[in-house]
Amino acid sequence: MNHIMYCIHCHAIHRVTVRDTVFKTGFRLVNGQDVPLGICNGKTQSEKKAE
Ligand SMILES: [Zn+2]
Repeated sequence: MNHIMYCIHCHAIHRVTVRDTVFKTGFRLVNGQDVPLGICNGKTQSEKKAE
């Protein structure tokens, strides 16, 4: 199984952690393999404060 995702928050591929949300409906083709789309949750609160 893949434990990476294309993070729409970071605009980059990184590892999936328990705090991340991986979408089951979206994939991005990277280097010939389908990488699930996801978004990491760890920074959400701090970024809201920054706005
Ligand atoms: Zn991320």
